[in-house]
Amino acid sequence: MSSIFTKIISREIKSEIVYEQDNLIVIKDINPKAKTHLLIIPKKEIPTINDLTINDKDLIADMFLVAKKIAKDLNIDAWYRLHFNVWALWWQEVMHIHLHLLSDI
Ligand code: AMP
Repeated sequence: MSSIFTKIISREIKSEIVYEQDNLIVIKDINPKAKTHLLIIPKKEIPTINDLTINDKDLIADMFLVAKKIAKDLNIDAWYRLHFNVWALWWQEVMHIHLHLLSDI
């Protein structure tokens, strides 16, 4: 079954998309925990960080480089946070890795 993020990527489900490139998409979090709360989501559906392989290294690098670019474009690059949650052993809302970008400036 496709994750909700795969459905957003395929436009099956609507979302506020702020940036897209060949291998990833950036959307606004539906339930923001900061003034700016974005999710950087690879188009490849990888369940958790625990499932990464060496073949994903360029993809992961791109996620961080895009986070940096978006922070600069939004003029929040003086202070922001980036994090991945891993809920591998508990209930997890979205089994599709996503990098959170949060800022309150
Ligand atoms: P986590 O899996 O704990 O890292 O967080 C999942 C994040 O996805 C939460 O911050 C949710 O608010 C967010 N989220 C879940 N569904 C959607 C959606 N349809 N559009 C945008 N964000 C979503």
